[in-house]
Amino acid sequence: MDCFTCRNNARINALPPREVIAADDHWRVAHAFDTALPGWLVLVPRRHVTSIADLTDAEAATLGTWQVRLSRALRAVTGCAKTYIVQFAEKEGFAHVHFHVVPRMPDLPADRCGPRVFSYLGAPEQDRVTEQQQDELAAALHEHLDRTDLG
Ligand SMILES: [Zn+2]
Repeated sequence: MDCFTCRNNARINALPPREVIAADDHWRVAHAFDTALPGWLVLVPRRHVTSIADLTDAEAATLGTWQVRLSRALRAVTGCAKTYIVQFAEKEGFAHVHFHVVPRMPDLPADRCGPRVFSYLGAPEQDRVTEQQQDELAAALHEHLDRTDLG
């Protein structure tokens, strides 16, 4: 099995900031590597799971909290109006469950709203958010998450 997410999970202590914006025992947050939209995040389980139905109760227990915390952090850092949260895991090599947490910017063009926001993913190299920009966003998001305590 060749799984991009598992390869990164296996070396979590050696990942750059953009690949481990935050993590707990069950989840890791990364910036999408091939997006043209700054702040496009993915929330992934720490073990190989290909269906939401196979998440454990413990993994499920914090899933909602992560989605809300990340949405708050994105709103604070990017100024997005809201977030989109989407999970398909259909692309070859990317069957590992991953929740896209996408900042829906106030000025998002009408023809990119809703599912069409995916036109920002799989962007050609020259259009992608650079690794440096991703790391800077990661640091800002990390700091915001650190300061936020949901109790
Ligand atoms: Zn995997």
